[in-house]
Amino acid sequence: MSIKTFKGGAHPPERKERSASSAIEVLDRVTQVVIPVNQHFGAPIQPLVKVGDQVKRGQKIADAAGRMTVPLHASVTGTVKKIEPRMQANNLDGLCIIIEQAPVDETEFLPILDPFACTKEEALARIREAGIIGVGGAGFPAHVKFAPPPNKPIEYVIANAAECEPFLTIDERVMEETPADIIDGMAIVMRIVGAKKGIVGLEDNKEHLVPILEKAIAASVADISVQLLATKYPQGGEKMLITAITGREVPSGGLPMDVACVVSNVGTLRAVSEAFRKGKPVIDTGLTVSGGACETPKNLFVPVGMLAQDLFPAAVRYDESKLRRVVMGGPMMGPAVPSLQVPIQKNTSGLLLMDASEAKTYAEGPCIRCGRCMRACSCRLSPALLNVAFKASDLDQAEAIGALDCIECGTCSFVCPSHIQLVQRFRVGKQLVRAKKQKEAQRAVK
Ligand code: SF4
Ligand code: SF4
Repeated sequence: MSIKTFKGGAHPPERKERSASSAIEVLDRVTQVVIPVNQHFGAPIQPLVKVGDQVKRGQKIADAAGRMTVPLHASVTGTVKKIEPRMQANNLDGLCIIIEQAPVDETEFLPILDPFACTKEEALARIREAGIIGVGGAGFPAHVKFAPPPNKPIEYVIANAAECEPFLTIDERVMEETPADIIDGMAIVMRIVGAKKGIVGLEDNKEHLVPILEKAIAASVADISVQLLATKYPQGGEKMLITAITGREVPSGGLPMDVACVVSNVGTLRAVSEAFRKGKPVIDTGLTVSGGACETPKNLFVPVGMLAQDLFPAAVRYDESKLRRVVMGGPMMGPAVPSLQVPIQKNTSGLLLMDASEAKTYAEGPCIRCGRCMRACSCRLSPALLNVAFKASDLDQAEAIGALDCIECGTCSFVCPSHIQLVQRFRVGKQLVRAKKQKEAQRAVK
């Protein structure tokens, strides 16, 4: 099989061997869950329950009208103890519903729905009703992504199976253990968006999964194949995947649908299958717990809202004397969190307990104009020039040279020999550019 890739990128140490062979463990007993109400990208939703209410696993507990919303469901059966702001993985306080788990487990799932007999509208309504958001990204509502406008016909559904972040192995295990669910989810999405072809984009460090996926594909009527991709960061970026697989380039400011593609993570596709076949909403999260301070790296399914601290020591052990930093997600893009008292969310893909060597910080040196960041940037930006623009607070210049096309992958920071905090500066700078554009738009309306 040919191995495809994109231009640029980097090769951070993979460190996946620590957890890749550990079968997924399911944790379903917790004392309490702290479920952030707004875990999706879009308009806020509001609680439908009050303190003292009894709720069942799978019951809808928050929702709102509006296309850019998804409902939220109880991840355990129990009693609503509090509804109050709590610290979340993004380091901000947000409204959370706190449920104390009862000894009994009762479920309230959706009715089973045949995804190949229902209408497209019914299928999209089911995906919304199940609370499905993009796993591993900003939490974009899946029912919106799977409903491109009629002038944007879709040819390809691409399953993002790259899992290019170091340490993370949860997608690899999901593919190994439940390949049929992923292929089923792909076939369902292909029917909804009208795509004739499905392609699983898999990094070649997971080549052993090809026969496993092909066996599942053989049992499906949909036209799906596997494409091996070079193991390179950020191969799992939507734009990089599309370019590597189809040769098409998503235009600046554009979306995958502009080049007739829909990209979906394997975890999202599995959730799609479960929403129809089991009527199960998104109430659990798959994640890898690893890092140099973690003594028992593993892959887990846990109830949404489980506090990271409740994993220890029963499920996972770590060496407190070695722990220097906690990261939610992968080491390249995941945010560092100040404590383990943060809830695991629908789109949490990892929890990294980093030791001193992994959490090392360096003093920033001057730019030596080596050009490494430009060669590594898969979005063809000039990170060194963006850095100059942001440092000078020249937002117009930063925007003009493509700041908003930056996917915040962190590759430029990783390769910079002067340890310049490029991506950190771009994250803040992009928010300032967006705020400025918003103000300008408001002024234009007045
Ligand atoms: S963080 Fe932005 S500028 Fe840096 S390599 Fe990634 S896309 Fe390019
Ligand atoms: S990699 Fe660092 S030192 Fe080299 S050009 Fe880019 S910002 Fe400057």
